Amino acid sequence: MSHKDVLTAAGLSESELTGGTLSVHSPIDGAEVARVQETDPADMPVIIARAQDAFRAWRKVPAPRRGELVRLLGEELRASKHELGAVVTLEAGKIVSEGLGEVQEMIDICDFAVGQSRQLYGLTIASERPGHHMRETWHPIGPCGIITAFNFPVAVWSWNTALALICGDPVIWKPSEKTPLTAMATMKVMERALKRFGDDAPDGLAQLVIGGAEIGEALVASEDVPILSATGSTRMGSVVGPKVMERWGRPILELGGNNAMIVAPSADLDMAVRAIVFSAVGTAGQRCTSLRRVIAHNSIKDDLVTKLTKAYQSLPVGDPRKDGTLVGPLIDAQSRERMQAALETARGDGAIVHGGEAVTSDVPDGGAYVAPAVVEMPSQTEIVRTETFAPILYVMGYDAMDEAIAMQNDVPQGLSSCIFTLNMREAETFLSDVGSDCGIANVNIGPSGAEIGGAFGGEKETGGGRESGSDAWKGYMRRQTNTVNYSDELPLAQGVKFDI
Ligand code: NAD
Repeated sequence: MSHKDVLTAAGLSESELTGGTLSVHSPIDGAEVARVQETDPADMPVIIARAQDAFRAWRKVPAPRRGELVRLLGEELRASKHELGAVVTLEAGKIVSEGLGEVQEMIDICDFAVGQSRQLYGLTIASERPGHHMRETWHPIGPCGIITAFNFPVAVWSWNTALALICGDPVIWKPSEKTPLTAMATMKVMERALKRFGDDAPDGLAQLVIGGAEIGEALVASEDVPILSATGSTRMGSVVGPKVMERWGRPILELGGNNAMIVAPSADLDMAVRAIVFSAVGTAGQRCTSLRRVIAHNSIKDDLVTKLTKAYQSLPVGDPRKDGTLVGPLIDAQSRERMQAALETARGDGAIVHGGEAVTSDVPDGGAYVAPAVVEMPSQTEIVRTETFAPILYVMGYDAMDEAIAMQNDVPQGLSSCIFTLNMREAETFLSDVGSDCGIANVNIGPSGAEIGGAFGGEKETGGGRESGSDAWKGYMRRQTNTVNYSDELPLAQGVKFDI
């Protein structure tokens, strides 16, 4: 299928793909696939005001009915899974199963949110005063701005949108300027769900704005966007987070990761190798949860490196649309340059680098293809502590578990982590108060490929936000404590007397 056919199958018309100012390239072959219209920054106040109007209507719709819209969105996504997955492959360069997997993640969060729409539970709380009761209730807040990164061009929107909508909040989405087409195709699916849902859904409930940082900044700066969910680099989050806080908005930040695996002497090495390869080279190392560091016990490290370098040699790198390809392209040539520069720095730090070179044969011309790299490091130097968004796996050794956990935690980021061990004490220590400091910590499973049922996010420079499952929905609502007096007395709390 040509690039054009993929976009047409996803419902995008010729006029939407031409005549605009934003040039969109496919990482598969670097070809320009569209020139889309960008949102005029001058229109942002109107767009935000429309979302505020939608909020005033949508908050009155009962939550289970709001869930019905998300149920319909899930149905429409099921029907469009292949078409939308193909646009993810075209625009983000993911292999076919990962493109489809991303849409499946959207479907899963819709299913989750539909159930959640009947479970926006508060508490009842015992009052110390006779004839009183206390409770805690949850209420919609207002429009939620969603700024997303190129590497999960649609799933992150759905994590936020499915929950925001059931919680009573309209959404305004600013996708990465590298992936506006998947966003436009997703909005077609949303429009079909809205049409089936009917008149209860106000205009402006789910809007899309296209452009770069300046369009995102309009959402960041507006007091009429009380929740701002931003996914991307730590650099972006360090600008966006304080600006949202300054105006007393609520930021939900999902930023960079530098995820590690500790491999203990008792680990099932074959399982560890499979987990390492999937999580280090999947999506060409461009997942926020990609495995970037292996901290292996010195007694097994050489064996592990031998197994890994062998497994890496047989990895099929190439056109992500082709059956059998496991490693597609990097998003662009700059990304490949950053990878080469990081490997150069590592060499300067005394590393032994296996792989990592540009791949130019048997791949489409114009794409930035690379052989994933295994890099033996003498220690955890500054380059290892930096997130390079490419398939570089640094391998380091340790002697004592305390030392391994300290190394795992000694990076600025705190997203995902894992340990491979059959030793229960080591596993439980890793998950304990003195173990991993990350938002995600796993045992005998890699750091990436999270299920939507758990809360997703991380600590430190990863930003502290939580999205997706568990009680992440609370991030999209305001909490209210209520005290009701059903007696004919007016007792004060804490025994205070105030007779008038
Ligand atoms: P990026 O920071 O370059 O861009 C992300 C988004 O932020 C884009 O939409 C961009 O236009 C917008 N943006 C940039 N500056 C802005 C500003 N000043 N104001 C408002 N918006 C602004 O990131 P990227 O290269 O697209 O994505 C890769 C990064 O995202 C990696 O660091 C990765 O770890 C991270 N990521 C994190 C998660 C997570 O859940 N923690 C998920 C996916 C990606």
